[in-house]
Order: sequence, then C-alpha cells, then structure tokens
Amino acid sequence: MAFTPAANHAEALAGYPSALAAEPIEPDRRQPDTLLAAEEETAIQTWLASIGENDTSMIVEVIERCRHDDGARAYYLGRAGYAVTDDDRRCCSQCGNLRSGVCVVARPGGRVSAIVGYRPASPGVLQRCAGFAPNVSRD
Ligand code: SF4
Repeated sequence: MAFTPAANHAEALAGYPSALAAEPIEPDRRQPDTLLAAEEETAIQTWLASIGENDTSMIVEVIERCRHDDGARAYYLGRAGYAVTDDDRRCCSQCGNLRSGVCVVARPGGRVSAIVGYRPASPGVLQRCAGFAPNVSRD
C-alpha cells in the first residue's frame, strides 16, 4: 500500500483497523514479482560461502532480503554469476553435475535418464533439465 501524502506507521495502521501488522518499505525497495527459486537461493548461498561468509545470521539476512527486495535479489544474483532472465533454460556447461564432460547424475530411469557416464554431446546448448544444479565453482 502506498500513501500520498506520505503516512507514518501509526497513520497507516489507523487507516486499516483490521490489519494485523504493517511493515514500512524503504523508498527504493520493490517487492519481487516471483518467489526466490531454490536454484537462486542455492546460487546466492554458494557465492556467500565462496567469499568466506559463514555467519548463519548474515546468510539468513541476505536470503530474507532477496525474498523481499527486488534490487537486493538482482544484486546478489549478479554477484553469484546467476543470469537473471525470463529464459529458464540452462546449459550443461553451467551445471555443477557436469564433471570432466560427464553428467554425474545420469542413471537409467533417474532425473537424467541416460547411461551412467553419459557425456552430453552439446554442453553449450540451452535446455531444461530436471537434474540441473548451479555450478558451485562460478564466482
Ligand atoms: S544434470 Fe542435466 S544439465 Fe546437468 S550436466 Fe546432466 S544433463 Fe546436463
């Protein structure tokens, strides 16, 4: 809810007596249109670990901020090297499960149903894969 002219916390609550709570939004903060995807959260946590950030409370604070602040989400995803696009396809070359050219999760009947030792022929081609996992070595 936005108020014009601006309202303080008490004034905002007074206008909505049935509201259980109100939380002020910082002027530059925009609520994201989508939930923070597990893949995005993993990418941010992986990047935080890669820079030596192991303080659990700090990690929780960053993730919470990314859930509720579009700008913060874009910033941290950018630092994590995570491409923010409408295109949800990824390449095998971006996947942490591709090791030495081998898809290590490939199993007959598995998430990637292929022979053990499967080598994707075109690792640079965009695709949707149930086995995709962000590459933890990116920074
Ligand atoms: S899990 Fe999917 S995206 Fe990742 S390497 Fe295997 S086939 Fe490629």
